[in-house]
Order: sequence, then C-alpha cells, then structure tokens
Amino acid sequence: MTTTTAVPAVAHTREELKAAREALPSRDVAVVMTMGALHDGHAQLIRAARQRHEHVVVTIFLNPLQFGPKEDLSRYPRTFDDDMAICTQAGVDVVFAPTPDVVYPDGDPGVRVSAGPLGAMLEGASRPGHFDGVLTVVGKLLHLTAARSAYFGQKDAQQLLLIRRMVRDLDFPVEVVSVPTVREDDGLAMSSRNTYLTDSDREVALCLSRALRAGGEAASYGPSAVRRAAREVLVDEPLALVDYLVLVHPLTLADVPEWYRGEALLAVAARIGTTRLIDNTPLVVGPGGGAIDVFSDVPHARAEV
Ligand code: AMP
Repeated sequence: MTTTTAVPAVAHTREELKAAREALPSRDVAVVMTMGALHDGHAQLIRAARQRHEHVVVTIFLNPLQFGPKEDLSRYPRTFDDDMAICTQAGVDVVFAPTPDVVYPDGDPGVRVSAGPLGAMLEGASRPGHFDGVLTVVGKLLHLTAARSAYFGQKDAQQLLLIRRMVRDLDFPVEVVSVPTVREDDGLAMSSRNTYLTDSDREVALCLSRALRAGGEAASYGPSAVRRAAREVLVDEPLALVDYLVLVHPLTLADVPEWYRGEALLAVAARIGTTRLIDNTPLVVGPGGGAIDVFSDVPHARAEV
C-alpha cells in the first residue's frame, strides 16, 4: 500500500469517472460516499479504507432524493475546495462529484430501492422517503464506482443497517465496512450540520452525547436503567426538543424488552434551534455491559487508523 499526497483525480461525469477508475493500477477500490462539507469523521472513513485497499474513491453528492421538501438541501454547506484538501491529505485517488443531472439523467427516477419497514422507523418516521432516496443513490454509486468495499459511519446507524440489508437482500457484490463515530473532544459527534449551530446551540447539543454516555454507564443494570439514565440528562436540557430516544435491537430496531441482555443501540434525535441532530451508541446491556465502538458480528474498521 502506498501513501500519497497527490491531488486526487476529479470526475464530474460518468465518463470521467470511468476513465479515472480505469487509470487506477489496481481493481482493489474502496468507496466512501459523502454529501461533502467533509470533516474528520469522513477523513477517518477514508483512512480506514486506505488501510485495507489500494485505492479510495470518494463521492461528493448532495442527493436531492433523500431530502424532504421542508429539509435543508438548499442551505446544506458546500465546501468543495476544503473537501479536496481533506481528500488530498487523506490519500484519496479519485473524487467523483457529479451534479444531480449526471446521477439522474432522466430526472427523478420512477424506479427506486424501497427501504421497507425498517426504513419507516426512527429517522424514517420523521423523514418519509428518506431511506428510499439514500438506498437508491447508494445502489447507483456502488454500480458507478464498481468498488469492492464501501465504508460507512456508525454515526448514521440506521442508514448503515439499511445499506447492509440492501447489500444482502439484493446481492450487491460489495463488502460493507462500518467505522466508529468520530467525536469532538467534548463528545459532540462530528457532523456537517454542526456548522448550523450557534455557540449556545452547540452547548445545548452536548446533552446528546452526555445522554448516550449516561445510558452506556447504566448498561449493566438493564434496559430501563439505560433509558432512564439517558432521559434524565435530556430532560435537564429543555432547549433540546427530543424527537426520539430509543434503546433498540441493532438488527430489527424494535425496542428491547426489560429481560433483554446483549448488544443494543441507544439512539437519539433532537432539534436544537433550527438544526436536527442525531447520535447513537452501540452498547452491551447486562452484567459487565457498557458502550462499545461497533457491533461485534459485523466486519468493521477499528480506530487504530
Ligand atoms: P454524510 O456526508 O453526512 O452523508 O456522511 C458520509 C459518511 O460519513 C456516512 O457514512 C456517515 O455515517 C459518515 N460520517 C458522518 N459523520 C461521521 C462521524 N462523526 N464519524 C464517523 N463517520 C461519520
């Protein structure tokens, strides 16, 4: 494996992507899909991919299909030059940055991937159609990049689960790898949307990671102790308008019953000011339990990058 600080090839069209892809010496390509406004969470995905593959393709695409009509597509931060600097630094080979008409040449696709019942839960309940839009573009970008592996963040736990399901259910020939959530020193999960936060919003936003930490610390006492500990942190912060706080099974997203012992996902979504944030932690419920980086039964990249 070579370390390079060369500027990545940039492809805006399908033809440019194909040419850049074919110019790579090896077929051992991993993809990291992003919506741009890159931060160290994205860089960590890239570094994890580089560790195990000869080449890394990063896609930067603000996918209109996954935004609802009242969501933040128009104000989403666009920072292409800074993104390129991060990609260069992290050793990316190719950046694919198409416009919507390149990805959807016939307009909104009539045929889409359905995320099914899991896609209607949690984030899907607040954002109808969101995961159909996500899976449709992920499927297309997997085809267009022809990557062997695709790296996704645990930060978007439900998205990761649904992508794994799509790859299994529809036999995509790709390995899905998850990377633990990268946080600021004070615990705030890195997110492109953090740039929307005012200084006081940002203080309020810390209650999310604090709640998850409190839940993790209560994990050895069982599900209701986890939920109670997390909820107590959130009720102390009335400026965080909680959409959901759940402790669910990592594969079904169903609430875990009180007798449950084993791996579970503690997930939260809240609106702070004008910004909707999500965060989560995987944890083990039961004696000796606590927070973990990633679930044990899936291949993953550990944080030693
Ligand atoms: P986005 O650009 O927000 O769509 O994210 C692109 C990819 O980066 C997704 O797989 C996200 O889960 C991942 N990601 C975003 N934030 C983080 C983070 N703080 N830590 C790890 N991965 C992240």
